[in-house]
Amino acid sequence: MPHETVIIVGSGPAGLTAALYTARANLKPLVFDGLRPGGQLTITTEVENYPGFPEGVQGPELMDRMRAQVERFGTRFVMDEVESCDLSQRPFTLHTANGDTYTCDALIIATGADAKYLGLENEERLQKIGGGVSACATCDGFFYKGVELAVIGGGDTAVEEATFLTRFATKVYIVHRRDSLRASKAMQAKAASNPKIEMLWNTQVIDVLGQNKISGLRLKNTVTGEEWEKPIGGMFLGIGHQPNTKAFVQWIDHDELGYLVTKPGRTATNIEGVFACGDAADHVYRQAVTAAGTGCGAAIETERWLEEQAAGGGH
Ligand code: NDP
Repeated sequence: MPHETVIIVGSGPAGLTAALYTARANLKPLVFDGLRPGGQLTITTEVENYPGFPEGVQGPELMDRMRAQVERFGTRFVMDEVESCDLSQRPFTLHTANGDTYTCDALIIATGADAKYLGLENEERLQKIGGGVSACATCDGFFYKGVELAVIGGGDTAVEEATFLTRFATKVYIVHRRDSLRASKAMQAKAASNPKIEMLWNTQVIDVLGQNKISGLRLKNTVTGEEWEKPIGGMFLGIGHQPNTKAFVQWIDHDELGYLVTKPGRTATNIEGVFACGDAADHVYRQAVTAAGTGCGAAIETERWLEEQAAGGGH
């Protein structure tokens, strides 16, 4: 059974930054790529808010560059996914989708979260080609100046995204499948008082229109069954995120949505020697740069914890 000093699960900005720091600290990290090597940025197009790229950078290119940087310092990658683990004793044991078992002294969980999509064929097609379907207003809102937009959902994310998008759009429709918002009262008040936001109640998206770029939505009234088409310049999903933490929630403290809970202001979890970073432990910021930041934090905490263990300071 292969034994490693540090295993990092996930290869998005959090995992790769944790790898960069642990590799440069000579800890020879092993990174599990997971189902989508490079993480969420590999399914985005232009990234303009990652510091250091004044002209912007394509998401996949940014991840290729991060990967090349960590490989330079000897990080090893395994194209496999961690399916379950035993964190009840050290060394920790990880079982993978390919049927392999690994043990490690320290574990960094950087498995990220995925935005939920409606699951419509044209939605997926346009999202993949950067054709006006996005799940991140902070990332992409800037590209939608002077057009009418739709935000799908009725929770805090949808209202927050819609409010943010009114900085660029001429109008933002919140398309919600029921007749009342799930969002907090404060958020509801924000939406109600913003003249650029209009609610489309009891409305469901049944198709996304447009060949290379979104041109509109086919909508359906969930009460009357009436269908119609609405011209639109962009669609933003705000129907929630799913943290990829299934393999760990048996052991690691988490909230009701499955986000891992760390000690305040830290990456340390309830299990000593296990650290969590990036979107798997963050439902607030969810940015590449914050994921990279907490990945760095996890690496530094791991390094210090391993040093303490070696010095006999462990509990
Ligand atoms: P929520 O689960 O709270 O809301 C999801 C919304 O999307 C619901 O209105 C739901 O409809 C709708 N929805 C889900 N699936 C579909 C679907 N297939 N088709 C159409 N609509 C769908 O997720 P959020 O991301 O909004 O929030 C997650 C957590 O993060 C919450 O605890 C929230 O409070 C918090 N948060 C806080 C923020 C803040 O305080 N600034 C900002 C963003 C999030 P329905 O209501 O009918 O179920």
